[in-house]
Amino acid sequence: LTDINALADEYLRLSYHGIRAKDKSFNADFKADLDPKLPKVNVVPQDIGRVLLNLINNAFQATHEPSKGSQSLEGFKPLVTVSSRLWEGSPSGAGGSDGKWVQISISDNGPGIPDAIKDKIFQPFFTTKPTGQGTGLGLSLSYDIVKAHGGELTVKSQVEKGSEFIVTLPIQ
Ligand code: ADP
Ligand code: MG
Repeated sequence: LTDINALADEYLRLSYHGIRAKDKSFNADFKADLDPKLPKVNVVPQDIGRVLLNLINNAFQATHEPSKGSQSLEGFKPLVTVSSRLWEGSPSGAGGSDGKWVQISISDNGPGIPDAIKDKIFQPFFTTKPTGQGTGLGLSLSYDIVKAHGGELTVKSQVEKGSEFIVTLPIQ
């Protein structure tokens, strides 16, 4: 059984320090809001770790495009928040069956995702990043991994406000 909080916390720090080490102008903040009573889940830790790392890297990268939207405003502070909670019911926005789930949310106050590309971001090789900076495989791989665990990966986003990716995993 895997402690998702520990995994999320580890990858949040790993991603933050990794980006910081390469880019001195990186000035994002991060916050972890993890439910201490979260049950452990039956997952492949390397796989779900990879999903979390993909989503967290995307979130930090999104907050770090200073020319876009609200990010050009004075006083703007880039922020990535990772939270976890127990969820009872159907997995959010995904219409799955009722049950008990662990939800991990990765949200950022980056530029958001325009409606025109919302249904493309989970496709393999879709990227809006400059050549050499994105493979476009992170989200499609993450989606497949979460699905293979019987879970759901959903996104909510508002242009100029930010994005939230939610991983929902079943509790056996
Ligand atoms: P990559 O990061 O290599 O571009 P991904 O599959 O991880 O590939 O993401 C695909 C695309 O989805 C990104 O290029 C970007 O356009 C969009 N995207 C993903 N996460 C975010 C986010 N947090 N905020 C804004 N756009 C995002
Ligand atoms: Mg990515």
